[in-house]
Amino acid sequence: MDTAVPDSTKRLGLTSETSDAELVSLVDSWVEANVPEPWRAAAPGGRSAIRAVRPRADYEAWYPTLAASGLAVATWPLAYGGLDLSPRQARVIEGRLAPYNLGRLNPLGLHNMAPALFAHGTEEQRLRFLPPMVANRERWCQMFSEPGAGSDLASLAMKADRDGDEWVLTGQKVWSTWAHRSEFAICLARTDTAAPKRKGITYFLVDLRSPGIEVRELRHMGGRVDFDEVWLDEVRVPDFHRVGAAGDGWRVAGSTLAGERQMVAGSGSGGVDRIGGSGVMRTMERFDELEVRASEQDHLLRLYAEERIRAWTNERVRATVKAGGTPGPAASIGKVHQGSLNQAIQLAATNLLGAAATAFPEVGVVAEAGIDGWADALPYEVASMIRSRANTIEGGTTEVNKNVLGERVLGLPREPDPFHGANWEDTPR
Ligand SMILES: Cc1cc2nc3c(=O)[nH]c(=O)nc-3n(C[C@H](O)[C@H](O)[C@H](O)COP(=O)(O)OP(=O)(O)OC[C@H]3O[C@@H](n4cnc5c(N)ncnc54)[C@H](O)[C@@H]3O)c2cc1C
Repeated sequence: MDTAVPDSTKRLGLTSETSDAELVSLVDSWVEANVPEPWRAAAPGGRSAIRAVRPRADYEAWYPTLAASGLAVATWPLAYGGLDLSPRQARVIEGRLAPYNLGRLNPLGLHNMAPALFAHGTEEQRLRFLPPMVANRERWCQMFSEPGAGSDLASLAMKADRDGDEWVLTGQKVWSTWAHRSEFAICLARTDTAAPKRKGITYFLVDLRSPGIEVRELRHMGGRVDFDEVWLDEVRVPDFHRVGAAGDGWRVAGSTLAGERQMVAGSGSGGVDRIGGSGVMRTMERFDELEVRASEQDHLLRLYAEERIRAWTNERVRATVKAGGTPGPAASIGKVHQGSLNQAIQLAATNLLGAAATAFPEVGVVAEAGIDGWADALPYEVASMIRSRANTIEGGTTEVNKNVLGERVLGLPREPDPFHGANWEDTPR
């Protein structure tokens, strides 16, 4: 068990009393002393210039330096790896760090696990699990969906039986993003089959290195392995790893799902702008290179305007959350809008490549490398366009989020459910 207390000696000496000018100067000095020189030198050239000198593996190896400073989660309490600063101070910091593109690792820990622990975990659980998650020493994934329970998540069938101080979990999960490179998973399992489907679920933190767990990789249409099937066969989970009361997992999961929707909508606080591709600006910067016609420019500018509206709406949601409010149905509006908008942006970027989108030169060269070579050879725009197809599915489909909006915002009649209130074991699946 990783009980390492965060190393506060490396923490930046900032407090809620620190003035903005001091904040800027301390953060700038930290960047100078800690961000490797070639990365700093590349920063004026933007994200692509940084990526060119900063391979992913190098960034992951360096990342504990950022985490140890507390800057990765500046508004969080010191004990969980943060700096206990105000949201306003955190924005000043984000502004100073933005040019260096220091993205937060472990997004499923930050956005999906942490909200559940903040809202429903015990102090012991927060102290045990948050610091190593912030440092990316323990990577997290989410095991909610099952073959028969995606949109209708509450009908899930993985079972968990109590045995003394432990729970024994058996069943199958699917679409578990990054399970093959995670140490822990948040996991929903059924602890009471004789209760209505939303009542008999419990929320667990599962150590993926436990005996009885098999992770099987799934390859998606972009040619890469990003998610998995996970099989659990009598896996023992300590009761300390249960979040919230037994049978109350649906309510706990609500915190996770709201955090996930915000992340996918781009309104989270962890710096995730979109899942798949870059914004319209990047494409516009390539106008000359791509020989963009006036009619295409018009289309891109419309998308740009829509993207700005999306960004401002996200700002509002972030401000509400930082002021202590909840994102509420706005998270669903953002999710629905961002999903289709990002698909339109990535498709527009791909269209501009013309024939080069399908007949890219590297494909012959890498053919011998098999499917991985094919995935490596995909032009950035095409890979992003393919990835963006999932934006209207992941984190709840667009159709289901529209149902949420219809019922909870517009007050339309609920979708009929002839088995409403029936026990899970009496409900056909
Ligand atoms: C890239 C990606 C990553 C993912 N990562 C994770 C992860 O890390 N962890 C995890 O637990 N899950 C993950 N998922 C799973 C995701 O949450 C589910 O795919 C999603 O909830 C939809 O469930 P389903 O695939 O079972 O589709 P289904 O629920 O079978 O839906 C099929 C179709 O029916 C429609 N539909 C279903 N019910 C209704 C309704 N009531 N009204 C109108 N239309 C309806 C849907 O909109 C969809 O078009 C991921 C999915 C993707 C694509």
